[in-house]
Amino acid sequence: EDYLVKTFNLGFEVDLMKGDITKIEADAIVNAANSYLSHGGGVAWAIVRRGGEAIQRESDQYVREHGPVPVGEVAVTGAGSLRAKYVIHAVGPRYGLEGEDKLHSAIRRSLEKAEELGLRSLALPAISTGIYGYPMEVCARVMASVLRSYKPKILEKVIVVLYDDMAYSTFEKVFTREL
Ligand code: ADP
Repeated sequence: EDYLVKTFNLGFEVDLMKGDITKIEADAIVNAANSYLSHGGGVAWAIVRRGGEAIQRESDQYVREHGPVPVGEVAVTGAGSLRAKYVIHAVGPRYGLEGEDKLHSAIRRSLEKAEELGLRSLALPAISTGIYGYPMEVCARVMASVLRSYKPKILEKVIVVLYDDMAYSTFEKVFTREL
């Protein structure tokens, strides 16, 4: 079912893929989370459903210990039974309330956190384009800008996973133009 793939080479590999991020084999999967790490809908719900309730329990514990995760920042938990070692929970901005700079930060901090964890591959969803309402094209442009300027130390592969044809074709158009 993961039949659409397009690869870009930026010194590290960037793959665009259409599919379900919970099924991707990568060292870490990024979740499009909210500040309370309350994984009730969208990709967050899919991650907990497939990876197991331990991801929600660890998330609750994180928020009890550290407080809510600021917009544009990330928190890490284990990945339960997913084919990944970690879930990096990135808190994107809400369209109309918080700006693109926060989306840039959420994506960039995800890459940096993966490297802090010593990881080589990372899967990213289209953060903020679901419940949080950002246009797909804006997310694609911001993600292209983060990736274009990123200088990885050990990260070798970033897999951008889009959930439907519209999302995939928007990212393909923007990445082909900008990467
Ligand atoms: P946000 O609150 O940041 O907008 P959402 O989870 O509502 O987060 O949506 C982010 C994006 O993730 C949307 O484009 C949505 O279609 C997509 N998405 C939902 N489920 C999955 C999945 N299983 N794999 C990959 N992407 C998904």
